[in-house]
Formats: sequence, C-alpha cells, structure tokens
Amino acid sequence: MNKVLVTGGAGFLGSHLCDRLLRDGHDVLCADNFFTGSKQNIAHLLNHPYFELMRHDVTFPLYVEVNRIFNFACPASPVHYQHDPVQTTKTSVHGAINMLGLAKRTHARILQASTSEVYGDPEVHPQREEYWGRVNPIGFRSCYDEGKRCAETLFFDYHRQHNLDIKVVRIFNTYGPRMHPNDGRVVSNFIVQALRGEDITIYGDGSQTRSFCYVDDLIEVIVRMMDSEAGFTGPVNIGNPVEHTMLQLAERVIQLVGGHSKLVFRPLPSDDPRQRQPDISLAKEKLGWEPRVSLDDGLRETIAYFRKLLKGEVAA
Ligand code: NAD
Ligand code: UDP
Ligand code: UDP
Repeated sequence: MNKVLVTGGAGFLGSHLCDRLLRDGHDVLCADNFFTGSKQNIAHLLNHPYFELMRHDVTFPLYVEVNRIFNFACPASPVHYQHDPVQTTKTSVHGAINMLGLAKRTHARILQASTSEVYGDPEVHPQREEYWGRVNPIGFRSCYDEGKRCAETLFFDYHRQHNLDIKVVRIFNTYGPRMHPNDGRVVSNFIVQALRGEDITIYGDGSQTRSFCYVDDLIEVIVRMMDSEAGFTGPVNIGNPVEHTMLQLAERVIQLVGGHSKLVFRPLPSDDPRQRQPDISLAKEKLGWEPRVSLDDGLRETIAYFRKLLKGEVAA
C-alpha cells in the first residue's frame, strides 16, 4: 500500500484517479481548493477508510507524509483557466515548486499532469515528445501553456539537481463522466447542447481537429506510468490517436443523443490549435498501453452521465 497524494483530486481526472487508487488498495489523500472541482465528484469516497479530503491551495506549502504524488491541480478548460490567468500560472509554477519540495523532503515519486498544450499550435503532425512546440508566450492561452511548460522545466531540474524520481505525462484531450457541464470544453458543450435540444456551437468552420481519449483509458496509463521502471521519466504522450474534426464530433453527438439540434458557427478563439494528434509510440513501447474505448462507446457513457445530471439525478 502506498500513501498517495492527489492534488486536484476533486476534479474530473483527479476524482477518477482517486477511485482507481483506492480500488488498487492505496491510502489516498486528496488536496483540492475546489476552484473547478466539486465535492460531488468525491462524495462517494468520503466514508472510505483509506480516503482523506483536504481543502488546500497548492500555491501554498503543504507538509504531509506521502510516498507518491500525482500533481493534477490546475484548471484545464480555457474558460476556467482564463478566468484568473495569474492564479493559473501560480497554480502551475508555485504548485509545482511546492509539490517538488514536498517530494524532495519525503523522497516521494512524483508525477506531473502536463498537457498537449505544451506543443501549442503545432507545425509537426502528429506530435512526438521530441517536438519543442509552438507556443505564443503572451496570448490568452499562455497562462496555461507556459505555466505547464515551466512546470515541466522545474520537474526536470529537480530531477537533475536533486535526483528526484519524476514522471511526466502529456495528456491530450480527455472526456468522460464528471466533466464540468459549464466548462466550455467541446465534448461537454456539444452533449449538453444536444440533450437540451439547443444549437451546437461550432467555433470557426469546424475543420480543426482533436483526438479524444476516454477517461478510463487515460487513468490506466497514468497508473502504469507511476508504476513504471525507475529512471523512465518521460515526458510521454498519452491520449487517443484517432483524430476527428469538430464537425465530425458534432455529427456523432447529435446522432447518439438522437435530438434535432442544428449547427451554428461562432468565431474561432485566438490561438486555437488547428490540429492535434498524439504520437503514442513511446507509451506503447514503454508502458505496453494503447486506448481501447472507441469514441462512440465513450460518448455513450458520457451522454448517459450528462442525461442524469440534467435530470438532477446526480449533482455537478
Ligand atoms: P479539472 O478542472 O476538472 O480539475 C482540476 C482540479 O484542480 C479541480 O478539482 C480544481 O478545483 C483543482 N485546482 C485548481 N487550482 C488549484 C489550486 N491552486 N490548488 C488546489 N487545487 C486546485 O480538470 P481536469 O480535466 O481534471 O484536469 C486535471 C489535470 O490534468 C490538470 O492539471 C490539467 O491541466 C491536466 N490535463 C487535463 C486534460 C483534459 O483533457 N482533461 C488534458 C491535458 C491536461
Ligand atoms: N515545501 C512544501 N512541503 C514540504 C517541503 C517543501 O510545500 O514538505 C515547499 C516549500 O514551501 C519550499 C518549496 O516546497 O518553498 C520548495 O522546496 P525546496 O526544498 O526545493 O526549496 P527551499 O525550501 O530551499 O526553498
Ligand atoms: N469548440 C467548438 N465548440 C464549442 C467548444 C469548443 O467548436 O462549443 C472547439 C474549440 O474551438 C477547439 C476544439 O473545439 O477547436 C476543442 O476545444 P476544447 O476547449 O475542448 O479543448 P482545447 O482547445 O483546449 O483542445
């Protein structure tokens, strides 16, 4: 049994990770400031004997005794991370420093939830880990992209300078139950719009692409990465390499929901990447992993969740 800290554990990915770690028999401490996460996401765990919840902002120091740290604290959707961009950068940078300081003192292994956004609007396709990215340092998305890039820098400097046992994963777009219904991300937006019979909002002409990974596939590879051989630091891309345009995604959602929503076109946000697809050869080779859940199956699960949420059968 490991004593595991999950920062951002009340969020979408963090709460699924807490579920999995408890199922695997670990002792889990969840630290979250509830900026975008919710108590509902972890309500079912509160009576678990090996689960502990702590309200904590990672920009402040944290003194606890753990031997593994998953650093997931950070708002992930553009609407949320642009709401208070200074706090977003602080969360990534000061948060990383504090969690790395904690890992240094406790000799814990530490995994960073990095992102495909470190590649920015990429000029190589698909993206491999060696690619350095094309990120605007002063735009609306920069607080997130550059914050995450700086966090990676800190992870590798603590590794080289203090011999920390680090793991870095670059997560590509992931979806599933417990996504925030109002976070503006494309999968949640389209599903909620289709379920309400509202128009589906396509930004730009809808020809931009993303590759969507179902949450269960992603949690599996995160756990494998944490358990991987010492010395394998990453960064490693994790995500589903099957690429779709936003128009294709809208069609799938409308068909699976079975509604009559129409498409409406809205301006493309600035710095919106044109295309994004992970090259997951490294994850396949080192972690023996590839995604198993198809977009249709994953969307069915996610639609079922949002249907219940909108009926008030589960709380957000
Ligand atoms: P989320 O917004 O649902 O979860 C983030 C969690 O962090 C929330 O519970 C929030 O309250 C908490 N948090 C935010 N700032 C904090 C702070 N200062 N101190 C403590 N807690 C704080 O987002 P998510 O989709 O679950 O993303 C989790 C992590 O994975 C993030 O680091 C994100 O950057 C990364 N990621 C996610 C995706 C994706 O597609 N979902 C893609 C790439 C990277
Ligand atoms: N820190 C923390 N928990 C710990 C140890 C350190 O939150 O258990 C924070 C502490 O606030 C410090 C930061 O991590 O500022 C970086 O720690 P490090 O040991 O690298 O640096 P130093 O303490 O020398 O500034
Ligand atoms: N998008 C869209 N309609 C929406 C929300 C988003 O067409 O209602 C587009 C957005 O412009 C982007 C893509 O969908 O091109 C993915 O957006 P999301 O915010 O989910 O993720 P990210 O841009 O961070 O990959």
